[in-house]
Amino acid sequence: MDCIFCKIVRNEIPSVKVYEDDRVFAFLDINPLNDGHLLVIPKAHAENIHEITEADFVAVASATHKLAAAVKKALNPEGINLMQLNGKAANQVVPHLHVHIVPRWSGDGLTICKWELTAGDMERVTAIGEQIQQAME
Ligand code: 5GP
Ligand code: ZN
Repeated sequence: MDCIFCKIVRNEIPSVKVYEDDRVFAFLDINPLNDGHLLVIPKAHAENIHEITEADFVAVASATHKLAAAVKKALNPEGINLMQLNGKAANQVVPHLHVHIVPRWSGDGLTICKWELTAGDMERVTAIGEQIQQAME
């Protein structure tokens, strides 16, 4: 597969690896938002949340849980953002599913996950909730 993250898994492109198991690979982001910015990916290529198998997503989640603990132990951040973007509209750039682990310190100047809260129209919120519940059936 001609995908930059598949090449990293195959070690055709170098990376600073921090974790690997039979399903998952994790490495430092080359453009870190903060010290310790990690990417956790499935070894099997899947572009996004709709393509990845449930088993691989569970494996990525489990590795993310372990790695967040290691980041806390190693760097003692005051917080951690987990981010996982799907599709260009959601700002996904690399088309191989990845979870970002971004250690945070107050006053670090990052603006990720900062948005204005505005009161929702509760009729619309409720109707959309019903639509999603029906789609779960
Ligand atoms: P996205 O916007 O798709 O969620 O983020 C992709 C991330 O992959 C970016 O944070 C970018 O810095 C990182 N990235 C892109 N190419 C490489 C690479 O070759 N090596 C590493 N380590 N990270 C990369
Ligand atoms: Zn890939």
